[in-house]
Amino acid sequence: MGRAAVIVAAVAAAAACAAAGVVVGRRVRSRRKWGRVLRILKEFEEGCDTPVGRLKQVVDAVAVEMHAGLASEGGSKLRMLLTFVDNLPSGKEKGTYYALDLGGTYFRVMRVQLGGQRSSILAHDVERYPIPEHLLTSSSEDLFDFIASVFKQFVERDENGSERSLGKRRDLGFTFSFPVKQTSVSSGILMKWTKGFVIEDMVGKEVGEYLQEALMKKGLNVRVAALVNDTVGTLALGHYHDADTVAAVIFGTGTNACYLERTDAIIKCQGLLTTSGGMVVNMEWGNFWSSHLPRTTYDVELDADSPNPNDQGFEKMISGMYLGEIVRRVIVRMSLESDIFGAVFSKLSTPFILRTPIMAALHEDNSPDLAEVARVLKDILEVPDAPMKVRKLLVNVCDVVTRRAARLAAAGIVGILKKIGRDGSGGITSGRSSRADTKMRRSVVAVEGGLYTNYSMFRNYLNESVVEILGEEVAQHVTLKVMDDGSGIGAALVAASNPSRDADGVQIP
Ligand code: ADP
Ligand code: MG
Repeated sequence: MGRAAVIVAAVAAAAACAAAGVVVGRRVRSRRKWGRVLRILKEFEEGCDTPVGRLKQVVDAVAVEMHAGLASEGGSKLRMLLTFVDNLPSGKEKGTYYALDLGGTYFRVMRVQLGGQRSSILAHDVERYPIPEHLLTSSSEDLFDFIASVFKQFVERDENGSERSLGKRRDLGFTFSFPVKQTSVSSGILMKWTKGFVIEDMVGKEVGEYLQEALMKKGLNVRVAALVNDTVGTLALGHYHDADTVAAVIFGTGTNACYLERTDAIIKCQGLLTTSGGMVVNMEWGNFWSSHLPRTTYDVELDADSPNPNDQGFEKMISGMYLGEIVRRVIVRMSLESDIFGAVFSKLSTPFILRTPIMAALHEDNSPDLAEVARVLKDILEVPDAPMKVRKLLVNVCDVVTRRAARLAAAGIVGILKKIGRDGSGGITSGRSSRADTKMRRSVVAVEGGLYTNYSMFRNYLNESVVEILGEEVAQHVTLKVMDDGSGIGAALVAASNPSRDADGVQIP
């Protein structure tokens, strides 16, 4: 080999070494970054941990807070609101009723025909409209004008413009799923907004009147005969189908629960008399809080950035409005530590861009190459060509978020059962008797909401956790039953079972 050739070879070798060095250096750096990402995941997993022991502490905390909320006004973060619904539908209800259901994401209009026998809903027509986003922060006038306009179109289509819609008066049940201090079964005052709604002029005002006025303005001969929230509607439908139904829970945009309580247990309202001896209590459990809840920095930051900080803490860990957003916050943190989601992540930094239905779709992606995850990353978050390990990582984060939510939701349900002595432990007031000598009654919990009905991983985790907390033997006596459109149909049922009787039945001292 000549001198020149030796020099060329040496230079080439040095260049190859340098290139190899760069590659190795890059690999080492990338491995380090990946290590940091995995550490974030591990910390997050640990922060969200819900072993059954912790869930049982949450169960106890729910039952204790329920007592406190019933004992005095403001005694707990659980408001435990009276609903004035004291007799649940018996099945004898008959006739045609309308219902309007203002949820957090959707507005539903329906007509329900009742046949006069248990479980004899002859027909129910439902139309669902997304609530236009600008109405969440507009004025009460705009919101109720929208509601009344949509309803008017529905009635006109439904009754084919016949004189019936203008002639015979119809009763209507209004499902308004925000905290309301009821003054009768058909009236109540808005206490605060949740789920992203902020219409200040309505807080402290009579909700039923707003609707009644808006309907009258449209020339509709309809009476608002019931004002309920979604949980109460769902309990009503549950009870209509199955008299063992004792509670109802909602997992939709928001989350809440109600249950049937004995009036003598509602200590803050001593002397409360109802013909049935009971009353449905709206827990407003979205606002539940306990130091046993596993809270992470992501929850703290989400809360601080929300329009209602320090409020609805349970809801912010559980409900459909927030789950996708928690996931987004975790992956933003990961992308700050590494470039696994690409150097530019403008979409990823947009709050609430990862909506919970999208999160569910990628979480439930069963394809071998996680094609749906790749599609969401590319089309929604603008992260193209994510390698398999990044796709799996995202699925993992979704799993942690949903599992925690579902398990806490299960603990909430068992907390209610405990309060009313249906968890096999003998209740919290009567001490612990052994499970063997506690006669278990069958208990049905009605469930409604898009998160539970559409997100099977959430539903499965929740159902499994109820069994895990209660134990298999006791859990045999507890059934969770989905009530499709329960919140709306139930409002029609409450309207039907409370015909023009605001003042009857319930006596407030
Ligand atoms: P609303 O809360 O308006 O009464 P729904 O009960 O239908 O309405 O719940 C809608 C919410 O449920 C959505 O905002 C979303 O958070 C959640 N959701 C709907 N579909 C899915 C889905 N496929 N997977 C997960 N969550 C879903
Ligand atoms: Mg709803």
